[in-house]
Amino acid sequence: MARILITSAIPYINGIKHLGNLVGSQLPADLYARYQRGRGNEVMFLCATDEHGTPAELAAAKAGKPVAEYCAEMHEVQADIARRFGLSFDHFGRSSSPQNHKLTQHFAGKLAENDLIREVSERQVYSNADGRFLPDRYIEGTCPNCGYDKARGDQCENCTKQLDPTDLIEPRSAISGSTDLEVRETKHLYLRQSALKDQLDAWIDSKTDWPVLTTSIAKKWLHDGDGLQDRGITRDLDWGIPVKKGEQDWPGMEGKVFYVWFDAPIEYIACAGEWAEAHGKSDAEWERWWRTDKGADDVRYVQFMGKDNVPFHTLSFPATLIGSGEPWKMVDHLKSFNYLNYDGGQFSTSQGRGVFMDQALEILPADYWRWWLLSHAPENSDSEFTWENFQASVNKDLADVLGNFVSRITKFCRSKFGEEVPEGGAYGPQEEALIAELTTRVRAYEGHMEAMEVRKSAQELRAIWAAGNEYLQSAAPWTLFKTDPVQAAAQVRLGLNLIRLYAVLSAPFIPAASARMLEAMQTGDDSWPEDIAAALNALAPGHAFTVPEVLFAKISDEDREGWQTRFAGMRS
Ligand SMILES: [Zn+2]
Repeated sequence: MARILITSAIPYINGIKHLGNLVGSQLPADLYARYQRGRGNEVMFLCATDEHGTPAELAAAKAGKPVAEYCAEMHEVQADIARRFGLSFDHFGRSSSPQNHKLTQHFAGKLAENDLIREVSERQVYSNADGRFLPDRYIEGTCPNCGYDKARGDQCENCTKQLDPTDLIEPRSAISGSTDLEVRETKHLYLRQSALKDQLDAWIDSKTDWPVLTTSIAKKWLHDGDGLQDRGITRDLDWGIPVKKGEQDWPGMEGKVFYVWFDAPIEYIACAGEWAEAHGKSDAEWERWWRTDKGADDVRYVQFMGKDNVPFHTLSFPATLIGSGEPWKMVDHLKSFNYLNYDGGQFSTSQGRGVFMDQALEILPADYWRWWLLSHAPENSDSEFTWENFQASVNKDLADVLGNFVSRITKFCRSKFGEEVPEGGAYGPQEEALIAELTTRVRAYEGHMEAMEVRKSAQELRAIWAAGNEYLQSAAPWTLFKTDPVQAAAQVRLGLNLIRLYAVLSAPFIPAASARMLEAMQTGDDSWPEDIAAALNALAPGHAFTVPEVLFAKISDEDREGWQTRFAGMRS
């Protein structure tokens, strides 16, 4: 039994994510986790909310809540939606957890011990009225380029010009509106990534099975220009993990917190600690996933993320792990995705353009979305959601092919043989041919799933469903029944067994429908079909079943047009 550690890039706390976010990491990670569990492997699948930083503070202020309360509430909202989408995390943690506080401070202490942290003095804007330093985006003023009066200290939203806070005309605090600002000196810690350049380079060279796209992005950051740069790991904020050297105070760093980029990936590890705590397990139980000196040397670690996160996961987080000098498990394979666009443009959180996870579940069950998103995953290039394509895919693949198969065979059996698997007859050449085809296809499906080729896996699964439909079409037990009811019984028996087989194979994509199919077949046998012929005899003659309700309803043109209008923009 293999042991597989899976992490999905952690979603930021400030709001509900759209479908583009979902398909870029959490959903394909779930597909892979479910598949690996289905194959009998031991899986640890972790995700969390990313809760620190300025955007969380701003969102909390906008909601009129203390930031800790806001994050706790939004975590529950995101966890609930994840559950309803069938995301099967072993734990959905929080980067603000005590475990992450402790571990982040631990890593900073180790990095300092290894002389990989240096102090830098910077000049930053301080607001006397607010009693705090202001990050660039907390400062507003008039844009010197276009005259827009709500330009931010980092960028003008109106003309997109990149700005420094000192460029702004009549700068003011975005928190209080105060103009009583001054530039003060403040000290920050920098991680000396440049000192780790050769070790990172050698580590990436050892990853010969990574896609060229991934290694080339990492190499570019390592070698282009002046090479890998040191990065600030602290901020003058209230909300975050207090800067400490392990358990010791850090002189000169009082009142400062770690920068969110530093603590967020450490949550991948801390999350396993949260999992252990939630299940009353010892530290050893999570450490066997993360410490190569404590059992993690045989773990395969796979990360899922959007392409914009690749530099971060190939360089910054590994720099923290390598720099600690401790035997932490490093990533073995990194699966990254391009972007999903929405109906001729981009998903936009600020403009409410596109479908957000909560809205998606208001109109259709999760499996409809899971199937479309995964079968159109933006793997090799960006892909686009259109309502026409969504409607066609749901109606054809789910309703016409899979749903119709299940409905037709169960209803026919009920009417001619009753609600149990009929006996009599034997599988002949036609059935043997189907078994041979399915054997080839299931092995191909396994290969694609193992390789995390999401679209190819979906294509193969669809072909497996279609093969059953074609068989039924050509065998036509409803016609044969009139002349040879015994052979028709064998065909129906095969069809009913196919439903169980389809439920098992399809579970990673459409877990709720799969569960309903197994329930209708009145079996808890969800064992993986290592041998297709054997799997198609799993339900013996006399085994009772029920005819399930319609598995997938078709999407009407009227619904499609209504949704198209509703999600065109300006989410309220
Ligand atoms: Zn401007």
